[in-house]
Order: sequence, then C-alpha cells, then structure tokens
Amino acid sequence: MTDQTSIHILVVDDEEGIRTGAHRILTRMGCRVSQAANGAEGLKVIHADPPAIVLLDMKMPGIDGMEVLQRIQSLDREILVIVITGFATLETAVEAMKRGAYDFIPKPFTPDQLRIVINRAMEKVRLREQAEILARERERTMLDLDREQSRLRTIVDSLPSGLFVTNTEGVVVLMNPACRHHLHLAEEVATGMPIDAYIDDERFRDLVLDTSRGRYIDSEDIPPHEFSPAADKFLMARCQPVRGASGQCLGALVNLVDITTLKVLDRLKSEFVAKVSHELRSPLATIHEQLALVLSDMIGQASETDQHLLSRAKEKTQGLISLIGDLLDLSRIESGAICQALKPVQVEKLLADIVDFLQIRARTKRQTLEFAAPADALPPIKADPLALESIFGNLITNAINYTQEGGRIRVTVEPAGPNLRVQVMDNGFGIEPRHLDRIFERFFRVKNDRTRFITGTGLGLPIVKGLVDALGGLIQVESAPDAGSTFTVLIPTSAPADD
Ligand code: ADP
Repeated sequence: MTDQTSIHILVVDDEEGIRTGAHRILTRMGCRVSQAANGAEGLKVIHADPPAIVLLDMKMPGIDGMEVLQRIQSLDREILVIVITGFATLETAVEAMKRGAYDFIPKPFTPDQLRIVINRAMEKVRLREQAEILARERERTMLDLDREQSRLRTIVDSLPSGLFVTNTEGVVVLMNPACRHHLHLAEEVATGMPIDAYIDDERFRDLVLDTSRGRYIDSEDIPPHEFSPAADKFLMARCQPVRGASGQCLGALVNLVDITTLKVLDRLKSEFVAKVSHELRSPLATIHEQLALVLSDMIGQASETDQHLLSRAKEKTQGLISLIGDLLDLSRIESGAICQALKPVQVEKLLADIVDFLQIRARTKRQTLEFAAPADALPPIKADPLALESIFGNLITNAINYTQEGGRIRVTVEPAGPNLRVQVMDNGFGIEPRHLDRIFERFFRVKNDRTRFITGTGLGLPIVKGLVDALGGLIQVESAPDAGSTFTVLIPTSAPADD
C-alpha cells in the first residue's frame, strides 16, 4: 500500500506564491511534490511522472485549467484533480466537478484548508489502492483454487485404482478413468446416476447406499466387498464415508482395486491343495482303519511299547485326516461352494446353543463361558446355519483353547447399523501385535511356551474368515499378550436375505 511519503502531488499554478506555499505544506505532510507554472508544463510532468493528485489552477495564461482537466481525464481517470478557483468563479468550480474534478479549493486558502482537502484526496487514493490489492489477491486465490482443483483432478484421474464418490442419495458425483475401466464403462458414461446404473451387484449397492447415508458410525465396521463385474475379472471395493466439517456424512468414497491376478493365483493354489488333499484322504483313511484293526487284534498279545507306538501312529493319522478335512472345507469355501443353503437364522439362538454345547469343554478348564444378547429379538439373518456354526464354534473353541485354566470367555451379540455384531472375548494368552496380521493365513500358528502343547492345524481362522467373507461380513481382532483377545464379527442383516 502507498504510504504518505510516496504520494505524488503536482501543483499547477501560475502564481509562484501559491506553488511554493502549497509545496511547503504538502512536503511537511510527507508528500512528494512537483510544480508547474502553466498547463503545458503540468501536462509534461503528468506524462513523465504521473502524480496521484493534481492541484490545478483554473485561471492560467496559455492552456487554461478546464482544458488541462479534460486532457488529464482523457489520459488517466485515476488521477484526482483538485481545482483551485477564485471566489468569483464558483461556477467554474461546479463545471470542473461536472467534468470529473474530484474536489475544489477556493483561493486564497489557509494551510489548514489545503491540508483538509489534500487529506481527503489522499484517503481516497489509499482506499482505491487497498481495493486494488484486495481485488488482485482475490484473483490470485481464485487462480490458486483453480490450479489446486485441476491438480487434484489430475491426481485422481491418474490413480491406478478406481475411485468414485457418491452423495447421500447414492448418486455418483465423481468417477475417475480407472473406475470406468474397471467397471467396463464407456468413456462417455457420465456421472449423475444412482450407483446401480453402473454396477449390477445388489450387495455392493446396499453397502454403498448404507455408507452414503451414514449408517456406519465407525468406518472400521464397513466390510470390504469382492465382486466380479465381468467374466474373469475380480474387484475389491472399500467404502469410506465422506464427512463434513461437523462430522455429518456427505456421501461415500469407494475405492476399487483389481484383484484378478491374486484371485487366479489363489484359485490355482486352492485347486492344487484340494487335489492333493483329495488324493491323500482315501489312503490315509485306509491306513487309519488298518491301524485300528491291528491295534484291536494286538490287545493282550503285543508289548506295551508296540501298542503305544501304534496308538501314536493312529492318533497322527487321525490328525492328518482332520487336517485334510479342514483343507477340503477351505477349498470348498474359497470356490464359493458354501453358503448355498440360505435360511433365516436367529443368531442369538444359534450362539446360545453353541455356548451350551461348549460349556463342558470350558468347565474342564474351570473357565467361565457366558453369553449375552439384547432382551428384544434381533432381526433374523439369511445365511447357511452350518457356516455360522463353524464361524462361532471355531472362535469360541479357540477362546477356550488359548485361555488359561480359570479364565473367562464372554460371547455377545448386538445390532450395529445394518449389521449384527458378534464378539468373542477372552482374558487369555492374547496375541502379539506382530502376529495379528498373520493369524488368518493358512497354517499360521503362534508358537510359544503356552501354545506349544495345544494341538491345531492353523486352518480354523482361515476357514472362519472365508465363511465371514462369503456372508459379506467382516472379522476383526484386538488382542494384547496376557490381556486377552476380542474377535469381532459383523454380519449384514439385509444383504444376503435379498439375494
Ligand atoms: P489353530 O487354533 O488350529 O492353531 P487357528 O487358525 O484357529 O488355528 O488360529 C491360528 C492361531 O491364532 C492359533 O494358533 C493361535 O496362536 C492364535 N489364536 C487364535 N485364537 C486365539 C485366541 N482367542 N487367543 C489367543 N490366540 C489365538
């Protein structure tokens, strides 16, 4: 902003006394002052070094004040002209104002009168400069915003994973090219339509709608969703609510990742495992039966050591047979051949039965096993009851196995938005953070002094996860060594029922 020192004022008057007087007063006010004795000289200064304010005498020999005013006006309308008039020429002042002069001062004037008029003009100059600065800043901000937006747009457009955003009604408002590519949509397919106009998958539609409408309080509760938009193409979708400044849900952000390669690899691995397991099952079953036969024939005839060795061999073959059973279960789940027999299931009833059944096992370890459900009946879910039994049976059995004698296990069920939340909590051995990501991998078992003697295959949790995924649900675990573990399963109440 211009400060007083830099305001340039030109005094154009043929009377030297007025020029020098004004020069003195204005310099003291901190202005830079130029002088001209007539109109022609004044115009020269204006050309060479344009002032902000001109003090212009109206009555001068040569080009008169009115003419100079007109030329200044045609040259630069921003220059403020204050005309100096004699008492007798008030009409001239009025005329000058009409032609664009900013103010006038009658001659003779006192220093104070001049100061007042000049201060007013300087204020105007300053205000105008401020307004210009503000306008420039505004323009720059708009430009920055525009640049920022186009930068973001470029980034979103060049993301390799598909991305789309919906509003609270589930209408797609933004979609990047990778999303169009993943969903096999033509380039010209525009946004602005409801989600089902782009993806024909009921469960996915419900998930996006529930997220868009803010039905998920905690984004951790939103299950990922796998689907196949075309033959031999698999996508994994993850939804997140988009929240406004005050936390309100504005819609959903959906990220689509192409997992086709992973799926193909996984399928090949599963097929191989299934084949090998299948080939091994019959000979193993035969060995097991024959060992049982030999053992029963040996009773009383062979030495105790021999009998012990054969019993151990029989136990080991039994272990291998159940391992193969688990592997075959897992490949069935992974190939999608499970969860076919869907019926309405009252989950609290199913859980109460499993807890009842496993009470004996808990009691042998003097553990407390309790179950809590809300007083009101929960909405039934449509699922394969055998799959649910397998999920919760495995989780509660693990809780019993990996909790010390006298420990406590608690099973709860409650509604959670569009899901049912089942939790299996124990105060047992817990799991170290570094193992938490791995416990759902096939054959992964934590080996430490406390778990070493617990038999297992490391296939229980992968089976549980496979079944939960097939139900469109989500499984999470929180655990700390020696503090216990909580396994949380979320099962959608509506989606599979609508299938
Ligand atoms: P398995 O029980 O046959 O070993 P799982 O797949 O069921 O196989 O579990 C994998 C591993 O996760 C277990 O070996 C155990 O170390 C750990 N684990 C599972 N559940 C619990 C639990 N409730 N508390 C502590 N550790 C657990």
